[in-house]
Amino acid sequence: DTVLVTGANGYIPIWVVRKLLEKGYNVRGTVRKAEKGEHLNKYFDSYVKRGRLELVVVEDITKEGAFDEAVKGVDAIEHMASPFHENVDDPEELIRPAVDGTLGILKSALKNNPAIKRIVITSSCAAVMTNTPEARTFSEADWNELSIKETREQGRQALPMTKYRASKTLAEKAVWKFYEENVKKGGTASWDVVALNPPFVFGPGIQEILSASTLNTSLKAWYDLVYSPSTSSTKPKDAFEVSYSWVDVRDLADAHVLALEKEEAGGERIIVTEGVYIWQEWLEIANALPSSLTEKTGRSLPKGFPKITAQPQNLTYKVRYDTAKEQRILGVKYRTKEETTRDTVEDFVRRGW
Ligand code: NDP
Repeated sequence: DTVLVTGANGYIPIWVVRKLLEKGYNVRGTVRKAEKGEHLNKYFDSYVKRGRLELVVVEDITKEGAFDEAVKGVDAIEHMASPFHENVDDPEELIRPAVDGTLGILKSALKNNPAIKRIVITSSCAAVMTNTPEARTFSEADWNELSIKETREQGRQALPMTKYRASKTLAEKAVWKFYEENVKKGGTASWDVVALNPPFVFGPGIQEILSASTLNTSLKAWYDLVYSPSTSSTKPKDAFEVSYSWVDVRDLADAHVLALEKEEAGGERIIVTEGVYIWQEWLEIANALPSSLTEKTGRSLPKGFPKITAQPQNLTYKVRYDTAKEQRILGVKYRTKEETTRDTVEDFVRRGW
């Protein structure tokens, strides 16, 4: 089978490409410019040579019919291309590619490929959770309506993360509306849809990484707080106390493969997470790694505020997720924080950072 992966050069997508290839699928990846495919072609050289991976350029995913050619001849789609960065003024810069890109690929699939069996959309916990004062456990029944409301009301003044969350919520809502109208109600589509909702994604990057400062948003946050003394030391204590949920990028890539393979996943949105963390915990785990791992760097790792974790009874994990559906349908085996930390630090050291 051939799987179309959009945004193939990105942090999560390139891991999905790798897992798919390793599991025997052929992959067609989309990138925005040919240069963005150079690293992929090198990294997956042996697969390219055997005709198992091909790259196509889709320059502007917001254009009508942008994916019309790319969808031809594939058996399934993993739609992952969507902006995730905080460097944004007008919220439409995030919302348009998120919504139009996602709707666009569904439309192209409906129009140009009657053989597709499944379309997996990489949504996000951003489309599920809302920041609440009390601790709360969210499930697939929850929607981040608040991010849409705040972005509408505040426009450019909205927080960058709020704009991003609105873009993911609106995109996923558009998916289920399209699915309801065109697939479920006796439409002509041969396929069903799965939305995966991961929280923050960490773990070693295999995408093209020119420098630490150009890392993708989630891994950059981990680098800045957990690994780099110069950036970590500029952060206030609050930054180390904040709690979120996470998943290792390799486990999330496994989930993307399982989402194609598990029949019962069809028509479902599925939260994919290992569990909760407080930033300071990552620092403690990193500092407990054997010193032989980091001695090459000639410096020690940031310490943050050890007092935060010294009194575990004071730690509150505000946002939790119910993973019952994921475990029932996908059954992902998650890496621990220790494994992810070790592999990530090893990778950073290898890069000479
Ligand atoms: P990256 O920034 O590494 O990858 C994003 C991919 O999307 C790249 O291929 C990028 O292309 C492409 N892209 C970005 N903006 C546009 C645009 N305007 N038009 C077309 N393509 C675009 O991010 P991630 O790998 O982290 O994200 C992949 C997906 O996972 C996204 O849908 C994101 O929302 C989702 N996600 C990520 C989480 C995380 O913590 N990392 C958590 C939850 C969900 P280019 O390189 O050319 O910019």
